[in-house]
Amino acid sequence: MSGPPNTVILYRVKYNNGMSSQPDVCIIGGGVIGLTTAYFLARDGIQVEVLDKGDFGQEASWAGAGILPPGSPSATLSPYDQLRAQSVALFPSLSSELRERTGLDNGFVRCGGLEFLGEDEAAAAEEWRGEGIAFEVLDTKALHRLEPAVSKELTTAYHLPEMAQVRNPRHLHALLAGCRALGVQLTPGCPVHGFERQEDRVVGLRTSTGPRSARRFLLATGAWSDPLLEAVGWQPGIHPVRGQIALLNTGAALFRRVLCLGKRYLVPRPDGRVLIGSTEETSGFDKRTTSEAIAGLLNLAKSLVPALGQAPLERCWAGLRPGSPDGLPFLGAVPGCENLFVAAGHFRSGIQLSPATALVMKQLLTGQRPAISLDAFRLDRNGPRRAFRS
Ligand SMILES: Cc1cc2nc3c(=O)[nH]c(=O)nc-3n(C[C@H](O)[C@H](O)[C@H](O)COP(=O)(O)OP(=O)(O)OC[C@H]3O[C@@H](n4cnc5c(N)ncnc54)[C@H](O)[C@@H]3O)c2cc1C
Repeated sequence: MSGPPNTVILYRVKYNNGMSSQPDVCIIGGGVIGLTTAYFLARDGIQVEVLDKGDFGQEASWAGAGILPPGSPSATLSPYDQLRAQSVALFPSLSSELRERTGLDNGFVRCGGLEFLGEDEAAAAEEWRGEGIAFEVLDTKALHRLEPAVSKELTTAYHLPEMAQVRNPRHLHALLAGCRALGVQLTPGCPVHGFERQEDRVVGLRTSTGPRSARRFLLATGAWSDPLLEAVGWQPGIHPVRGQIALLNTGAALFRRVLCLGKRYLVPRPDGRVLIGSTEETSGFDKRTTSEAIAGLLNLAKSLVPALGQAPLERCWAGLRPGSPDGLPFLGAVPGCENLFVAAGHFRSGIQLSPATALVMKQLLTGQRPAISLDAFRLDRNGPRRAFRS
């Protein structure tokens, strides 16, 4: 698989003026953010092309664990919580719609979750209460009655019955099939290196396979977004944060709920697989796993569910989360380019935030007012960080 473009060049190319073959929207990046936005746009009759440097849905969106925390759209929330709550509301209907349209089940299931107690979780409980998210505190007896496989050393936990999960590769397959069914033009193996501009408009893209044009453009290039944004004068600081995962296969499910301990977790799949995640590492664009990190994850699994100590290790992998300086994604117009938009930097939450992100990006790209205020996600929220203005 190809890495990020080393140099991003602004240059002039001649474009075919025949507008009929030009899509309304060209999306750069076919991860969960780009594909969900393409699906929502195409469902409304918008002509969309999605370009990816490699195959679709093979980067962070494939690698993620697919945990979908609960949220409640009715309570007063921060902009981030609104995005999450809106996504929580959309995920079930999106999943059944994709299943009906494509015959593919993305594995969405409201399995519930247990958060083992720590200082962060006590603060989190206050937030859940404020947001109206259902939870209960389990004592030792209740905990082991609910999940008998959990270690007897663990004596108490918060139970979040509304926590859900999705199987990322299946969700991406369903999105791709849904996009295909709606006529989205999907172009893999097409790295974008730069933009062609005329004053404040982007009129085309420079790609490895030749120029592309569209009326509007969306940058959804995950951890690879900064070089492209630099080409239009912005440097938001989106960077890769490696996360490693180990996958065990127990043959039959030992427990049903997602188990969370701080930032690490076990996600039980109904077929007996258990996904153990994850690390947060700065290692550039290196996606290799390390023996030390995988050993740490296996120890975590054994400490939470002792029977996992005997489970065969099926596979390990790593993915690159699109980190941002303040942990929030960048969503909205790219100032200085009236027809270029960005949706990138979702860090640890891109799967869970993807439906609401796609909804607001669809609204922006079609000239509607977004359902959620996007001020907190503006590209220029940290002041003018312009690399240069061409
Ligand atoms: C180990 C791990 C666990 C995670 N667990 C969860 C979780 O439980 N829940 C959750 O919500 N989130 C989770 N995440 C985070 C989530 O996976 C990401 O936030 C999300 O996938 C980001 O989606 P994206 O579409 O922005 O990026 P990506 O999926 O990385 O997609 C970006 C796409 O852009 C393409 N691209 C890049 N540059 C170019 C270019 N120049 N030209 C053309 N195409 C280009 C890439 O090839 C790629 O396909 C996890 C991530 C990891 C790594």
